[in-house]
Amino acid sequence: MPDTEPPRAPRLPRAALQIGGRFTEARDGATRDTLDPASGATVLTVPEAGAADVDAALSAARTAFDDGPWPRTPVQDRARLLERVADAIDAETEELAWLETLDTGKTLVESRADMDQIAQVFRYYAAEARTARGDVNPVPTDALSLTVHEPVGVVAMITPWNYPLLQASWKIAPALAAGCTFVIKPSELTPLTTLRIGEMLQEAGLPDGVANVVLGGGAAVGAPLTEDPRVDLISFTGGIVTGRRIARAAAENVARVALELGGKNPNLVLADADLDLASDQALNAVYYHAGQVCSAGSRLLVDRSVADALTERIVDRVGRIRIGFGWEEATELGPVISPEHLEKVQGYVALAQEEGATLVAGGGRPSDPRFAQGTFLEPTVLTGLPHDGRVAREEIFGPVLTIETFDGDAEGIRLASATRTGLAAGIFSRDAARAMRAARRLRFGTVWLNDFHPYFPEAPWGGFGESGIGRELGRTGLAEYQEEKHLYWNLDPEPVGWFGKRDDDA
Ligand code: NAD
Repeated sequence: MPDTEPPRAPRLPRAALQIGGRFTEARDGATRDTLDPASGATVLTVPEAGAADVDAALSAARTAFDDGPWPRTPVQDRARLLERVADAIDAETEELAWLETLDTGKTLVESRADMDQIAQVFRYYAAEARTARGDVNPVPTDALSLTVHEPVGVVAMITPWNYPLLQASWKIAPALAAGCTFVIKPSELTPLTTLRIGEMLQEAGLPDGVANVVLGGGAAVGAPLTEDPRVDLISFTGGIVTGRRIARAAAENVARVALELGGKNPNLVLADADLDLASDQALNAVYYHAGQVCSAGSRLLVDRSVADALTERIVDRVGRIRIGFGWEEATELGPVISPEHLEKVQGYVALAQEEGATLVAGGGRPSDPRFAQGTFLEPTVLTGLPHDGRVAREEIFGPVLTIETFDGDAEGIRLASATRTGLAAGIFSRDAARAMRAARRLRFGTVWLNDFHPYFPEAPWGGFGESGIGRELGRTGLAEYQEEKHLYWNLDPEPVGWFGKRDDDA
């Protein structure tokens, strides 16, 4: 076996659309190959949905919501189902991690961490469903005024290729906890684990039509999902350009819309930072999943007094990063998702240099012939990036770290804030109060102090400004899938007699 082929094949999901509890081919028989970005090899050929399949999936979800048992199933039973799914994910972690690695190119270590998080998300929303409460409102009359929560309805879920099952789970678990039904469309580049979770939901006993999976491209399959009046909520994770389109489509039907979009995430190293920690976390911030993370800390902002010392530590470690196939246990950096994306990332490396930055590490394709068929890029570092160019503002989404310097905390905070896509930021300082003062000034959905990347099912995730609308995870992540309803019961009703009075009435 050539050493570019994985040593084992994971169990593949059924290559089928899932519509109304049935696994089917596309009605017009269309298919698409899903590729391993590390080798370019086809992993599975899957059906490519057309308009008729999308229509059937939406009908199934609508009927399951309007007439099916799920929205009226007791929360305790819904929670038990979510727990069964979590147990099934735990039991199948290794198979799911392999699938995710073959589809995305990310390392097995990262895929395993994703699967662990995904099981936790299902458990968390099982617990939220059990403990969530409504309100009794203090109204001034003899009445009962109650706020109750009901499922929002049919949800169209559209997910990206960088965290296929993780992003899907952040939507599926709270949607099911709330009692919604859904149609999900994963990225056309990474359908495998979404296909498998569809099967797992059915195996766990979810009624037919509650979970529907359609596959295909954004324009042909994603857009019709977002334009259909049968959809009550569109929950989208992906790029800002697509997000804008989806917000426009949602406006047409006044559908609810939740958007998790891109970010330009600064990582701020103040003059008093622990440089061993800051350099270690700077690598973690940008090279996790080859920089293809919405919260990637690709923009390192360093106080000038420590910039040389920090850069030296970073460049030394970058030179030792092990590029490889995701399924090799020693690999630290896998490929990027596709040839088109590789070209885009390399374009930013060239643009940064045109803007005046200096390439101090990487920048090219690895020379090892094993990697010739894959979309690998060396871990790259650029110093001296000007603050006002495109590269300082735009999301690169690849293994590229740019370093800018500043003089004093106030300038660092000002530079870090110069973005409309406030998803996440990091701050490194030994002084907790100093770091917290800076953190409170930054307008980002998450600010990490002396760390980068941790997220938890219990804590909200989302961005300020153009980075999105709404929050996933945490309690707010469940509220996205609920409507609030006011129930009012007059306990001492009397006629008010306002209308149609007789002349002799007082
Ligand atoms: P993308 O916007 O190109 O695609 C995302 C999804 O939208 C895919 O399933 C795609 O097929 C679909 N799509 C494309 N055009 C569509 C249309 N007109 N109508 C409906 N659906 C359409 O994004 P991507 O390249 O897959 O993902 C990378 C982006 O996702 C990055 O910008 C990243 O920052 C962002 N992201 C954000 C978060 C977050 O939590 N904020 C998480 C992960 C990724």
